[in-house]
Amino acid sequence: MFEHIQAAPADPILGLNDAYKKDENPNKINLGVGVYKDENGNTPILKAVKLAEERLLTKEQSKSYLSIEGSPAYCSAVQKLLFGQNHNIIAKQLAKTAHTPGGTGALRVAAEFIKKHLSGATIWVSNPTWANHQSVFQSVGLEVGSYSYYNANSKSLDFEALLASLSQVPEGDVVLFHGCCHNPTGIDPTPEQWYQLAKLASKQGFLPLFDFAYQGFGQDLTEDAQGLRTFLEHVPEMLIASSFSKNFGLYNERVGALTIVCDSTDQAEAAFTQVKRCIRTNYSNPPSHGSAVVSEILNDSELYSLWESELKDMRTRIHEMRSLFVNTLKSKGVDQDFSFISQQQGMFSFSGLTPDQVAQLRRDYGIYIVGSGRINVAGMTHNNMEPLCDAIAATLK
Ligand code: PMP
Repeated sequence: MFEHIQAAPADPILGLNDAYKKDENPNKINLGVGVYKDENGNTPILKAVKLAEERLLTKEQSKSYLSIEGSPAYCSAVQKLLFGQNHNIIAKQLAKTAHTPGGTGALRVAAEFIKKHLSGATIWVSNPTWANHQSVFQSVGLEVGSYSYYNANSKSLDFEALLASLSQVPEGDVVLFHGCCHNPTGIDPTPEQWYQLAKLASKQGFLPLFDFAYQGFGQDLTEDAQGLRTFLEHVPEMLIASSFSKNFGLYNERVGALTIVCDSTDQAEAAFTQVKRCIRTNYSNPPSHGSAVVSEILNDSELYSLWESELKDMRTRIHEMRSLFVNTLKSKGVDQDFSFISQQQGMFSFSGLTPDQVAQLRRDYGIYIVGSGRINVAGMTHNNMEPLCDAIAATLK
């Protein structure tokens, strides 16, 4: 039965990580997979998380199943983080949230929901986008289209082209937006541009799906939600896929959420029963631990402040590495202008390195970068900056 099955190609990002682990070069540097690293190159457990876990260890009474949508305390905390404490949507109960295994789980449940209930809808993703988007949507048989986003010459948002692309999206289709810290480019719309996009969504009648995987990694928790909140002033319906892998450092606990916003409480209740059906036939109900940690932190003012300050530290370190990278390259005599990197936000930047240069950096220096030239800035440290920039300078000659 299995003889005819061919091996699948390695995942472009996770496959790179496997190759990095096998590399015996003692000076190897990993700028591939999107995981935060501290100044020592470690991915630490946040103090707020450890404290929450200590509390849970004494408090937890049972390992019985959660409900299909997960714990109510978690789901309500997620909504406050997304919309802000006193938002109308919360007061009027226009949104329903389910805890999903990571942001990927949320996207997968959303994909199934769209396929089943928004008949014939195509989903549109930015060009470029996170490598897994297309595969997740195609895995349920959705048509995936792409819209213009990035100008490779100016290394900036091509807003004219973005507007022109989205003006072609018909009513009833779905458009995926990165809530903040666009992966892979690190370039987000300005508040004014978000406003224009929201107006366009309302005019065209497409459904926005916000993929929100980096809240707090750009400016701060509130600023990073501005795009999403601006949209909600103009459109009555939305899907939101949240991930808490990065901003809580809970990568392997698989904590995320799918939120559906509707025009009325009744609609939200009804649509959510269908979201729950998608979950029931997929993984039945979510794992408990990660969401218990997140809700312990979000629902306790002391832990919340600690988490916010740890999140700020991660964000500040990445911003510092961006500037240091640009300045160190300059000091090595690199002519090419890399200053755009210090203006981008989140973990990633599109470096503009070509696939050949990326291959050379890996072969000659043990520096791992995704083939598209996407670099994880969080992989840079004061220690590896000099050898990294020496290698890039030599490769660019
Ligand atoms: N969306 C985007 C844009 C991402 O970058 C990621 C993680 N790399 C995800 C979703 C998935 O997050 P998770 O690891 O929580 O499944």
